[in-house]
Amino acid sequence: MSSIHSNTQVKGFQEHEIEQLRKEFPILHQSVNGKPLVYFDNAATTQKPKVVIESLTRYYFELNSNIHRGAHYLADKATTAFENTRQLLHGFINSDEAEEIIFTQGTTDSINLVANSYGRKFLKEGDEVIISGMEHHSNIVPWQMVCEEKKAHLKIIPVEDDGTLNIEAFKGLLSEKTKIVSVVHISNALGTINPVEEIISLAHQIGAVVFIDGAQASAHLDIDVKKLKCDFYAFSGHKVFGPTGIGILYGKRKLLEAMNPYRGGGEMIREVTFEKTTYNDIPFKFEAGTPNIADVIAFGTALEFTSKLGKKNIAAYEEELREYCTTKLLEIPEIRIIGTAPDKASVVSFLVEGMHPFDVGMMLDAKGIAVRTGHHCTQPLMQRFGIEGTIRISLAVYNTFSEIDICVEALKEIIKKWK
Ligand code: PLP
Repeated sequence: MSSIHSNTQVKGFQEHEIEQLRKEFPILHQSVNGKPLVYFDNAATTQKPKVVIESLTRYYFELNSNIHRGAHYLADKATTAFENTRQLLHGFINSDEAEEIIFTQGTTDSINLVANSYGRKFLKEGDEVIISGMEHHSNIVPWQMVCEEKKAHLKIIPVEDDGTLNIEAFKGLLSEKTKIVSVVHISNALGTINPVEEIISLAHQIGAVVFIDGAQASAHLDIDVKKLKCDFYAFSGHKVFGPTGIGILYGKRKLLEAMNPYRGGGEMIREVTFEKTTYNDIPFKFEAGTPNIADVIAFGTALEFTSKLGKKNIAAYEEELREYCTTKLLEIPEIRIIGTAPDKASVVSFLVEGMHPFDVGMMLDAKGIAVRTGHHCTQPLMQRFGIEGTIRISLAVYNTFSEIDICVEALKEIIKKWK
């Protein structure tokens, strides 16, 4: 830990607690290019604690069986473990019912599900879908596709210079033509925490349904879909210490029931004849085929792990880290931070004057420091700022102040050499 923070109690966690926590993440304790790994790419994916890795392997050692249909011991055990994750998610996001949680492959898959199952059924020619100028491509392309098919229009909430959304402009976009509003909770490229409660309330006043992309929020904020009153919410397991290839779509029961299934196959049916198929109840109506059973079970373990740490503790600690990181970076005159919204989560995007982000990323990697460079799947946002991309440090609860010091010193060296 940095001398500045030695023996100081950080909000949320004490120094020794973070040291203990790091022991739970085996991958962190390795050398990369001869240096201890500093992993600052958590917005892309988080690392997995031992309990999650063990949960995955335990499934294949002890439980492997197909679920729901089997009448034997293993099928019963696997089904119970699988459905337990749904129950955990029900608590994790405070949904009215566990049945409102659909397992998907991740956030991208969830957005595609709603764009196809809700959008294709309910959008009509001339209708409007509103997204924001800071969306991940996953929350742009599926809406573009359905709008093109239905001859509907995509409208964009503009982004201000500090990386906040222009809410006045959003109010101006809303009309009786607006049918869907889909916005990101926390921007993966800027770290902005959007005022989603206000956005949802405004959209509801004109009768639009609201989808919230929670990909970046799940590991950092308490999510309460009842309080938010959103119609749909999605996030991915791998960004909240869980496995890849699994995620959720939350939807209000009445909306999910009104939607057509997205994929056809096993499990999603009630009865099939060659003349007609009737569909299963939610959530199964949207879960065709054998699901990703092991990963869903390990996802549940990741949720328990996160809840045990406490989202409030995580957020408080990460805020200290982010503030420290921002302050330290700003001491370097060549660095410009992109995204200075007052309400931010643990992402710090920046540019180094005269250097391409990719070069900076490669040079940091040579020193064992993993950051992400490029457009972060937000090309329109980069265009808005007139840049090709940024260097992005994204922090997680297992990162430390001394890792930030290491990164800042590395940046200073890189810039000095480059000049
Ligand atoms: N939305 C946001 C804000 C993201 O950051 C990401 C991933 O980085 C996604 C959507 C897509 O998530 P996934 O690739 O897990 O489907």
